[in-house]
Amino acid sequence: MRHLAIIGSGPAGYYTAEAATKLWGEDVKVDIFDRLPVPYGLIRTGVAPDHQSIKGVSRRYEGTNLADNVRFVGNVTLGEDVTVAELQDFYDAVILATGAPHDRKLDIPGADLPGVVGSAAFVGWYNGHPQFAALDPLLHTDTAVVIGMGNVALDVARILAKTRDEFAGSDIVSHALEALQASGIRRVVILGRRGPHQIMMTPKELGELGHLSRAAPRVDAADLPDEGEDALLEPGLRKSVGHLRSFAAIPESHYADVPIEVTFDFFAAPVAVEGDGKVTAIVVERTAVQAGRAIGTSETYRIPCGLVISCIGYQTSPIPGVPFDERLGRFANDEGRILPGLYCVGWARRGPSGTIGTNRPDGFAVIEKVAADIGGGAGKAGRAGFDALAEARGLDIVTFRDWKKIEAAEEARAREGAPREKFVDIAEMIKARS
Ligand code: NAP
Repeated sequence: MRHLAIIGSGPAGYYTAEAATKLWGEDVKVDIFDRLPVPYGLIRTGVAPDHQSIKGVSRRYEGTNLADNVRFVGNVTLGEDVTVAELQDFYDAVILATGAPHDRKLDIPGADLPGVVGSAAFVGWYNGHPQFAALDPLLHTDTAVVIGMGNVALDVARILAKTRDEFAGSDIVSHALEALQASGIRRVVILGRRGPHQIMMTPKELGELGHLSRAAPRVDAADLPDEGEDALLEPGLRKSVGHLRSFAAIPESHYADVPIEVTFDFFAAPVAVEGDGKVTAIVVERTAVQAGRAIGTSETYRIPCGLVISCIGYQTSPIPGVPFDERLGRFANDEGRILPGLYCVGWARRGPSGTIGTNRPDGFAVIEKVAADIGGGAGKAGRAGFDALAEARGLDIVTFRDWKKIEAAEEARAREGAPREKFVDIAEMIKARS
């Protein structure tokens, strides 16, 4: 028998569990740990609440969890309740699927002023992550600046711009829905330090911005390269740039009809945030792109604003004793192997890139490494060993059966038309299982 501990119940964790059960059938036991009492990580608290079809992938993970040899062990924090070394004593392999929950630092003067938030916090706030539920972002402003031109920046801009009706059927938490509807935002500026050919936005997601009921995207046609140059782009990016071209063709008269404008500001690198007690403006340097790199031109300008949301990527949290690559913001690893017996997968392995589905081959690849290292298992105690330790420490473990009760309670208290109203407080989640 092989015993596996997977840390993190997001997509990387569940695809790895699926790979292990596919490879070994009944000859493996998998425990999937999470620090929250609820599973699915990024699917629950990262994927946008108005993208329910993407969130639907959790049904597949539920299928994995219903196998007898896979169990969810919620409400257990690595490093506080149990250490990596202790888990290594019990399990043949410990696989870190902890994602990249921290914002890459916006390293400019003024970035710590109230009114500057990172996307992990802002997305966590509207998605009901207990850590960020109390964020209370400064939405009483007419202009919000979103830094970065990836899909997270798009999510954030879209969520700022949508009407209450457009959130029908979403599971945005009520505290965020109410705050957003009461906001005074009339302009969302998306800053990209490079140009239209260097955006990280995918076509489907970018296209959505052209179909919002009270907002319109604005692209300055002068920023777009000659159309012929698009032919050199890979097909997805070419399609995204096609959306930018259609935004640039929106007639000026249309903007008078919509209360919110989402402006793409290309060749614009943030250099400082200004404010007195809170943000009042962001200072931006005009750039030129040379050989794919943004080079400052020394020309600067200010954008008055009351909210800055930095969507410039994420980093993994280091774990004491686990080798970490500071430069890349993830665990130091060789294709998923940190050390024999200790592995990482998903964003914790490769950094914060790719779609949910990218984690599936990642999970299967790491299980190949695990298989090569652990053979038939070393006769370790596995979950019985962990359970004895948990009992001795008085840990309050949340099981998958408990989660199903929490889920039912969230569904029962949903707004009209919404799939669920998430609990945003850990104590409330735990209470709901009884
Ligand atoms: P991302 O795709 O890496 O985009 C990060 C953006 O931040 C880039 O435009 C980057 O510009 C910019 N940036 C980085 N450092 C900066 C700095 N110091 N100053 C100014 N700009 C800076 O990251 P993400 O948007 O966080 O997305 C993470 C992953 O999740 C991606 O793979 C994404 O596709 C995925 N995701 C998918 C969906 C979806 O499919 N619906 C939704 C959300 C997220 P440079 O290119 O110049 O570095």
